[in-house]
Amino acid sequence: MPRFRMILDTMPAYKPGKSVVSPEGRSYKLSSNESPYDPLPSVVEAIARAAAGVNRYPDPASVRLTEALAARHGVPVEHVALGGGSVAVAQQLLEAVGEPGTDVVYAWRSFEAYPTLAALSGATSIRVPLKDETHDLDAMAEAVTANTRLIFVCNPNNPTGTVNRTAELRRFLDRVPENVLVVLDEAYREYVRDADVPDGLTFYRDRPNVAVMRTFSKAYGLAGLRVGYLIGHTPVSSAVRKTLLPFAVNHLAQAAALASLEAEEELLDRVETVVKERTRVAEGLIAQGWTVPPTEANFVWLRLGERTMEFADHCALWGVAVRPFAGEGARVSIGDPEANDAFLEAAEAFRS
Ligand code: PMP
Repeated sequence: MPRFRMILDTMPAYKPGKSVVSPEGRSYKLSSNESPYDPLPSVVEAIARAAAGVNRYPDPASVRLTEALAARHGVPVEHVALGGGSVAVAQQLLEAVGEPGTDVVYAWRSFEAYPTLAALSGATSIRVPLKDETHDLDAMAEAVTANTRLIFVCNPNNPTGTVNRTAELRRFLDRVPENVLVVLDEAYREYVRDADVPDGLTFYRDRPNVAVMRTFSKAYGLAGLRVGYLIGHTPVSSAVRKTLLPFAVNHLAQAAALASLEAEEELLDRVETVVKERTRVAEGLIAQGWTVPPTEANFVWLRLGERTMEFADHCALWGVAVRPFAGEGARVSIGDPEANDAFLEAAEAFRS
């Protein structure tokens, strides 16, 4: 019998969002916070062109994409580090900082990969409960110990969609010791419309222990290709580069991400439509009598407690796949208008 690390016995496997099909054959996947749009023709063309070169390994340093991202964000090229999705970047970070005897602090509930990746690295998770569905930054600052190496702040938070604003974030960062890395996970940054929610890069600029994580999977619509990145000062970015699996960002992914940056205006117009639909869905739910925490992401959160799994099964009858967290609630992505209508119908029927 092969032997494995004991930690695997206690580690939950990552549960990806599923698809469902209604008895009438309808299927709306609102379980993974993906973009509901097909890729732009210019992006598909770039992928097709890149496909002609896949007998060769990709550029291991993703030089063109790294330069394009540095220019896009006005940061030095050395401060940009890529990974195969931002979940891989989070893993690279944890491999760089985590070991037995160290702590990783994050809010809970938040992105479900944090506990798994922390456990794999050997670090201990310190979960700080949400307060009013939002990161409790004071409690998170208090949770820091001499062993703390990393704090994740997910802003907006997955799965609640809630945000932390400029003044409280600044106060929090002022309290965190300089030898603790704070990673602002901004996977949903492009959907934020509240002007008081800062772009994490404003904090990174004058704080060497603050880094920002972004992804091409959501607003840029490349979830299937796996590209994410970090922007941080050289000790942080070089740690992420060192822990990158060789060639983890493949040739097609690099080409598609570059083409997406070139088509950014068009992609961000699509985000605007999702944001309008978010307002329509949230208002529709509130009119039905639901409590919906204010969301700045491309999803809504319904706290359903013990009825969570029943709700997910109910939505499946409408062909709507949601993301249930048993005993807590369901996260529902904003899709195209037809999918959102199907979800609103399902939600209304659940209440009656
Ligand atoms: N961070 C957060 C908060 C997320 O919700 C997700 C995706 N669900 C990720 C990171 C990872 O995204 P990806 O690996 O596709 O870039």
